[in-house]
Amino acid sequence: MPVVGHFIAGQEVVDSNEATLPVFDPARGEVVREVAVASADRVKQAVEAASSAFGGWASTPVPRRARVMFRFRELLERNIDAIAAVLTEEHGKVLSDARAEVSRGLEVVEFVCGIPQLLKAESSQQVGTGIDTHALRQPLGVVAGITPFNFPAMVPLWMAPVALACGNTFVLKPSERDPSASLMMARLWKEAGLPDGAFNVVQGDRVAVEALIDAPAVQAVSFVGSTPVAKAVYTRATGRGIRAQALGGAKNHLVVLPDADLDQATDALVGAAFGAAGERCMAISVAVAVGDIADTLVERLVAKAGALKVRVGTDAQADLGPLITQAHANKVRGYIDAGVSEGATLRLDGRGVEVPGHAKGFFVGPTVFDDVKPQMSIYQEEIFGPVLCVVRVESFDEAVALTNGHPFGNGVAVFTRDGDAARTFVDRIEVGMVGVNVPIPVPVAFHSFGGWKASLFGDHHIYGPEGVRFYTRLKTVTSRWPTGVREGVQTVMPVSGD
Ligand code: NAD
Repeated sequence: MPVVGHFIAGQEVVDSNEATLPVFDPARGEVVREVAVASADRVKQAVEAASSAFGGWASTPVPRRARVMFRFRELLERNIDAIAAVLTEEHGKVLSDARAEVSRGLEVVEFVCGIPQLLKAESSQQVGTGIDTHALRQPLGVVAGITPFNFPAMVPLWMAPVALACGNTFVLKPSERDPSASLMMARLWKEAGLPDGAFNVVQGDRVAVEALIDAPAVQAVSFVGSTPVAKAVYTRATGRGIRAQALGGAKNHLVVLPDADLDQATDALVGAAFGAAGERCMAISVAVAVGDIADTLVERLVAKAGALKVRVGTDAQADLGPLITQAHANKVRGYIDAGVSEGATLRLDGRGVEVPGHAKGFFVGPTVFDDVKPQMSIYQEEIFGPVLCVVRVESFDEAVALTNGHPFGNGVAVFTRDGDAARTFVDRIEVGMVGVNVPIPVPVAFHSFGGWKASLFGDHHIYGPEGVRFYTRLKTVTSRWPTGVREGVQTVMPVSGD
């Protein structure tokens, strides 16, 4: 069985003595390769490589760092199909969606091609007599990224290009479920001219994550994954005084107001709930039907969701593929069982879906629950599968209160033709990313991504201008030259403008 190894100091590392975990093709339900599991010593080696590379890379003139980003962008584009094929094989998502994933990551690389512009900081002349002040944004050092299974290319690309362009060096710990894309990107960074050691990959699990966070040279941690782990990572990193941004889980609501275009809202709901089999942190998992449109909305949802094709990701007809593991598919089926026993109305049941020729695949079909109540587990918890819960409410205010009362606050959308209602919704909703007639409001790469409440621990959103702030620290310089005013010994604190 081939083993996906690490990438340290510009070299792929496979050690036959190291423990491994199986990597599945979830559509076939079979192991296709193994992935190495790093020990704390292996992590130390990667952090040392990143530490050694830091000085040289941080002092590389910023236009030259930008040129590496340009070359990496070209290589990534040339390799989209190869990366997408591996994503479909190891994750299961349909091929067109896998290509879109790489493209969204590539947009972050395009953003940091402008890093010379992004790192320009403020300057003030003559803040006192003969005194000038200017600010610098300097890299932190070695930074770590820990990423989830559901976007094995895009989420690492939310982090590494920004961190590297700012002059940091990077150690990535990708998900052990679908590790191959990380190595493909490591090879491309090298080919793009990034110095050895500036981008490293350690494969593994919790042991590697904890060793990375604890490594004295690591100055910042970016994490994307489930909320309990996000919280633990954030607490551990900030507990030793380093900065952290830890993005967690979600339960995204889409509110349909009575005046909405119901066809548009239905299409949006079906695409956003069942695309990638619901394994997206910005998937819509709750439809909030306001007022008397609920019956019509549910009828249309059930008809459209029931027509989706559950297939192998390489099938050009497929709308959604399998879930990531057998255990996860069982967990999602368990939530559907729970919804039934808690009293929700099951309108479309994906538990028994069959994909011809793929009896061992981890498939669950689109599932729609009506009459879901806020206290039910299928409403409270993140299912991370193709399950849509419809909650019926009477009014706009009730829809806002329901959404704001949920512990997660990643994304939300409102569908309406009423500009006033949309504006009030945007103002009052306690969620980090809001869509108005847009179901999955993932910000473009020159804005920043992040949720509120249990969906993000930390002060900075990820990528975009917030990413540049996260991966740099501010230094403010106040300077005077010998030809300036000589004041003799001053024991009184100077006042601005003196
Ligand atoms: P996960 O939390 O299980 O794993 C994420 C990463 O943490 C992986 O690299 C994993 O190896 C590591 N890890 C797992 N358990 C750990 C532990 N106990 N200690 C330290 N490290 C540990 O998440 P997942 O199942 O890979 O991904 C799905 C989750 O990620 C969902 O909850 C989804 O909503 C969330 N997600 C959030 C965003 C966002 O932007 N907010 C984006 C994508 C995914």
